Order: sequence, then C-alpha cells, then structure tokens
Amino acid sequence: MTEKDNPAGRRQEDLYGILDRVLEGHRLFEEEAVILFEVQDRRIWEIASAADKKREMTVGNQVTYVRNQNINVTNYCINTCGFCGFSKKPGDKEGFLHSMEEIRRKTGQARSRGVTEICTVSGLHPDFDAGSYERIFSVIHEAAPEVHIHASNPMEVAYAARKSGISTREVLRMMKEAGLGSLCGTAAEILVDEVRDLICPGKILTDEWIRIIREAHSLGIKTTATIMYGHCESVHDRVRHLSVIRKIQDETGGFTEFVPLSFIHMNTPLYRNGLARAGATGREDLLMTAVSRLFLDNVDHIQVSWVKTGIKMAQLGLVSGADDLGGTMFEESISKGAGARNTDYLDPAEMERIALDIGRPLRQRTTLYNLL
Ligand code: SF4
Repeated sequence: MTEKDNPAGRRQEDLYGILDRVLEGHRLFEEEAVILFEVQDRRIWEIASAADKKREMTVGNQVTYVRNQNINVTNYCINTCGFCGFSKKPGDKEGFLHSMEEIRRKTGQARSRGVTEICTVSGLHPDFDAGSYERIFSVIHEAAPEVHIHASNPMEVAYAARKSGISTREVLRMMKEAGLGSLCGTAAEILVDEVRDLICPGKILTDEWIRIIREAHSLGIKTTATIMYGHCESVHDRVRHLSVIRKIQDETGGFTEFVPLSFIHMNTPLYRNGLARAGATGREDLLMTAVSRLFLDNVDHIQVSWVKTGIKMAQLGLVSGADDLGGTMFEESISKGAGARNTDYLDPAEMERIALDIGRPLRQRTTLYNLL
C-alpha cells in the first residue's frame, strides 16, 4: 500500500516527524499544531512526552507557584458573556460591590497570609471609570506596598477608557502610577472574532485586545496570556489563538506565562442554552497544555490551572509541558460562580506533594517569575 492509499499511516508518520523536528528547534506551523490537537489515541502520550522534554530544555525541572490572593471588587457587570456564571445585574441579591474600607481590610488580610501577589478582576460595574480603578489600586498599594498588584485585563482597560473619555494608553499609565504591577491577560477567551461573537458579544474584539496588550508591554507593564477552551471553538480556532500570542511575544517579549483555562460549563448560559459542550475532556486538557508548550517556543512558562481542571489533572499537565502551578488563590469566585468546586485555596504543602510525586522540586516564585 502506498502513502497515498493510506492517509492515516501518513499522518502517523507526520506526527512523529513533527515531534522530532520541534525538539530540534523547528517552529511549529499552524497546520502541524492542528494535527497534534486532533490526535485521539495513545499517541497523545507521545505528544505530552515531547512537550515535557521541551519544558525541561526551556525552564528545567522545578515546579513553581505564587502565593497570592484574589480580591474580586464587584460582581456587577454590564456585560453578559455566555460563559460567565460570576456576573450579576444591579438589584440581584447576590450582587456585591466592596467599599474601599473592605478592600483595605482584605488587603491587610492578604498581607498577614504572606502573599506576594494580590489579584483583582471584577465585573464591569456600571458606575466604574478610570478613576475607580486608580482608587482601588492606590488603596491596595498603600495598604501593602511590597505586594505585587496583578490586576485588570484589556477589557477593563477599554471600558475605563470609554467611560472616562481618554485613551487606553492613558488608562494604563494611570493604573501603573497607582501601583499596578502587571496586567492579567484574561478577556482573551478565543482570539477569533467569529467565536467571540458567539460567546462574548459585548467584549472587545481581537484587534483591540492585541492593541491594548501591545500598549501595556510598550509601557513596561508585563502581562500574562490566556486561552479559554472547551466550549464551542474548533481546533483551528485554538491554533489561531496560539498564533496570535506567539506573534505578539515575538514583537514585545511582554508575556510572562501562558495559561490554558478549561471552560467550566455548569452554571453558564452558553451551556444551558445548548451553545457549548460540557467542557473539555481530559484528552483535550492534556493536549492543550502540551501543544501550547510545543507551539509557544517564545513563552517560557506554561501554567496549569488547578482551579479549572482539578488538582489531579493539573499534575498530569505538569508532565505534559507545564512548569507552573499558578497561585495559592485564597478567595476564588470566578470559577466557583461557573460551577467549579474546591477553588478557594491550595496549600503549598499539597503542591509540594504533587511536585515531589513526579520527581520535581517545588519553588515559590514572584509574579514575574523570580524565584524566592
Ligand atoms: S466574563 Fe467578565 S465581562 Fe463577561 S459577564 Fe463575566 S464579569 Fe462581565
């Protein structure tokens, strides 16, 4: 039988050829990443193994984590993203908006827990403008000047700019002056507008997300990068997204890490209305981590989100290309709102157990990946 007669056999050879080449330093083409994502049999372990080798070559063996706390300032939001179980509308009895006093109190609590990072992400409150974000970061910065503020995202920057009638660059400058250390690379979801139209029609478009991220990097504000997968996107959409991230990183070098976020479906309108599947499977979670490591040859750190996948799957992610376990995360409510369980806190002792179990040391890091 010739190769032409046996396309399955040819694809198999393609796969091993791709993995050999990528470990020799070849940059994956988009079509090659699609081939990897589509594997459904035991060859997923070959892909995971190649990604694990690539991880070792890139960042060595330690598993890192950051000691952090979330402060979700408000869950009121003008948007209605289909994958969100967190946001509430004014009048909803489960809605909240913390006062500056409460934010100060939570910051003090975080400080007493020895965190090095405070993370704020909130809904787009109808009354917020650029000054609101400035005040929030100032309060946190004053109460805990040594703690890194990792906060907001390009959607919040665009919203603040619109509400205050100033440019997004100006908002970023204000945030930085008020104490912002780095910007969250969330609100990325899938950076393909046809998918965004379906899952988050009120959100900024791909080009705007890219522009704001580039502006942040140009102002010396590092950001993370994320992808939310496992809803209604195709494999091609995922690869497009990875390609956007890789291109920005080539230009700016401003991404600290890439974080695949597995869609939590339970309490979301997207799933309830039959527009999304019931989240990614274990195979998809594993391949998302592995292909991210292999494709993003210019992003050093790939994080597993234990909040999204659970701790056992997160451990498998660590032998499939990931090197970071994310944060201890006192007070998580975004994923919890969407229906995830056990999202509140992961003790570093448990992280260490997981790391040592795969023969790797656990190391605490700062937000910007300096080891402590
Ligand atoms: S994902 Fe963010 S912007 Fe969208 S509805 Fe939820 S809180 Fe609002």
